[in-house]
Order: sequence, then structure tokens, then C-alpha cells
Amino acid sequence: MPFELTILGSSSATPTYNRHPTAQVLNIRERFFLIDCGEGTQTQLVRYRIRYNRISHIFISHLHGDHYLGLMGLLSTMHLQGRTSELHLFGQQELMDVIELQLRLSQTVLRFNLIFHPVKSYTSSVIFEDEDLTVRTIVLNHRVPCTGFIFKEKPKPRKLLINKMKQYNIPFKHFTRIKNGEDYEDDFGKIIPNSELTVSSGKPRSYAFCSDTLYEEQVADEVNGVDLLYHESTFMHELLERAKATFHSTCIDAATIAKKGMVKKLIIGHFSARYKDLSPLLAEARTVFPTTELAVEGCRFIVSEKNS
Ligand SMILES: [Zn+2]
Ligand SMILES: [Zn+2]
Repeated sequence: MPFELTILGSSSATPTYNRHPTAQVLNIRERFFLIDCGEGTQTQLVRYRIRYNRISHIFISHLHGDHYLGLMGLLSTMHLQGRTSELHLFGQQELMDVIELQLRLSQTVLRFNLIFHPVKSYTSSVIFEDEDLTVRTIVLNHRVPCTGFIFKEKPKPRKLLINKMKQYNIPFKHFTRIKNGEDYEDDFGKIIPNSELTVSSGKPRSYAFCSDTLYEEQVADEVNGVDLLYHESTFMHELLERAKATFHSTCIDAATIAKKGMVKKLIIGHFSARYKDLSPLLAEARTVFPTTELAVEGCRFIVSEKNS
């Protein structure tokens, strides 16, 4: 089952050099989560062939325009296309104020149920949970309230080895317990260890999205060990003072969080419009954390079930 991140936008502040403002789609087991929704997200979804109606949940990190100005357009299009399935939206309370104002002024009553989940920016909490995964917020430090999001799969039941089930004549009623890791005891009291009856379904996979923020060392603890970490890298480190003044991070900051957090892969993005060529940013981040990639639009980052 997929665990796949698609980059739709990687620019900070203004669209430039064919880079769009922040937006990403995370496909976890064929469920589609949109993370931030900068201007132009609709056209990027079309370009990368992700159907709007597959998106069931939208997460907005903060209310700077480069992270949510595409949202109203996307909601309008979903409405015009006759969407009926419910849509869950996570963000700060004021986001809903903006949406309600626009709907009221255009006298629009959405055809679908928009379910808003207000997010607190000053404390980390679980904001979504079902049988497959949890989503927790990460407290960030930006000029306005801002949260990151960490998506974690829950452990999956072990896979039964059907030939072993047959070999030991194990009745069906025991299958669920064996999938959950129990040994099997036959009618004669002989114990067959679980390791002989099942194989692992793979480790739970995880993705952390760290939107606009100053370097915050405790973020490394929160993202500890994730398979994929996206961390903004608006500037190269020579502009550290500028980064601090604008509550942003440098490539070295992002790579340091990745290194301290012992993540498996780092993706850097939210690049300043001053950088046409991104290769120096990548090279700089790799001096600290070699397993770094650029958030290039259209790029897909896949976490496989086996390798996680
Ligand atoms: Zn931004
Ligand atoms: Zn911002």
C-alpha cells in the first residue's frame, strides 16, 4: 500500500521560476491528504493528475498567503463539480472565518459537508486518528501562529503464512490472535511460536511536515526517527540573520534538525525567490545531512513497506 508524498509547490512568498507556493499531497494507503494550499494548487493538482475529489483531508499550517490562498478556489471548484463527499479541514480558527466570509459574500452554500477542525498552535496534540494512522501537530516558531504536522501509521497486524496454517491445521477462529502476535497452542499442548506462523507487515511509516519556522531544537525530538522530514529552508546559511529576522530557517538549520532527529530522509523547500538555481542549497544541506533532497515540483517521495 502506498505511502507517497507529491510536491506541488516549493516557493516561499511569491511564485517564481516556475515554482509555486507551498502545497503537497500525501497518499497514505490510497487516502489523499493535502498539506497547505498555496495559490495555484488547483492547477498543480491537474498537472500531476491528482483528482480533487480524492482529497478527503486538508491541513493548513498557518495564515500567510503563500500557504492557503489557493484554498478558496479549490473549495469553489469542488462545489462547482458537484462534490458530495465530506471534506475535513484542519487549521487555525481564523481560517474558517475567512472561508465563511467569502462564502457569505458570494451567497454560496457548499454542496458538500465541510467539517472544520480548529488547531491550537501553542501546544502539540493529536488532531486526527483512525484505525490506520494518527496526525499530530508540531509547534513551530514563526511570525504568526504556525503548526507542522506529523503523520504516523499505526502498527499493522502480522501477515499469516497460509501454508503454515494448513500444515498445523490451525482453525480460522485463531487467525486474528495470531495476526496480533500470539503463539498457537495445539490440542496436545504443543506451542508453535508466532515467528513460525507469520511475517512482519513492515514497520509503520511516518512523515513530518515542518512549515515556516525559525530553527527550533525541540522540533528534532518531535520528528525523531521519521522516514521523511520536510523542513523549510528559505535561505542559505550566509543569510542566517535574514532568516532569523523573518522567522525562517536556513539549509544548515533544516539539515541540523534532520541530523539531530535521526530521520531517514530530509526534503528541503520553501525557497526564497532570490534563488534561481537550487543546487547550492542542496549542497549546503548535504554537508550536514547527506540524505537530503530538494522539494522539486512534481517529485514523488515514496516510503516502501519493506524498507521503512
Ligand atoms: Zn511561507
Ligand atoms: Zn509564513
